[in-house]
Amino acid sequence: MRVEHPKPRWTDRFLLLDLFEGLKTTFYELFQPKVTVRYPEERLEPADRFRGMFKFSYDRCIACKLCAQACPIDIIYIDVHDEQREVDGKMKKLKVLDRYDIDVKRCMFCALCEEACPTKPKSIWLTTKTYELASYDRNDLYFNMQELEYWDERPRYTGLPEENAPTQLEGQKMLTGGHE
Ligand code: SF4
Ligand code: SF4
Repeated sequence: MRVEHPKPRWTDRFLLLDLFEGLKTTFYELFQPKVTVRYPEERLEPADRFRGMFKFSYDRCIACKLCAQACPIDIIYIDVHDEQREVDGKMKKLKVLDRYDIDVKRCMFCALCEEACPTKPKSIWLTTKTYELASYDRNDLYFNMQELEYWDERPRYTGLPEENAPTQLEGQKMLTGGHE
């Protein structure tokens, strides 16, 4: 199929009006106050729709596996078994969770798992506003059921200890100073 593009006007070609239109935003931003957050001493509160770390509720979960089916990259691993339990005086067959793991290092935070979860409130959700789970070891980002439920008890990142703080390298001044 042939796509017809409108012919540019001569004013667009010679006066570069589109370019100035873009630069208008650049100039506007140049004079806005700059904001530097001194993390980790200061922390910004993410927006309400921010998708951060998962949280899981064992008590709410009905072990239906819909979240695992909805996950497009299959990183939710669920094992269940059936159990006979007494509910309101009657014996009922219930599904009981044995395993609920998420390989968070591969997650793309699409929240399809949260959307698929039928419980109200959700048993798995990503609106915890937490982004502080970076790790030097990829294996730390595989979370099991207990870790997904209680990760907020992990200590928060407090910054590098003083002895590990970055030091100025010899010759660094010359490199960063440019003209010396
Ligand atoms: S948010 Fe992560 S775990 Fe959930 S469906 Fe998307 S990729 Fe899978
Ligand atoms: S988290 Fe929700 S969707 Fe996943 S197994 Fe539990 S109840 Fe089902």
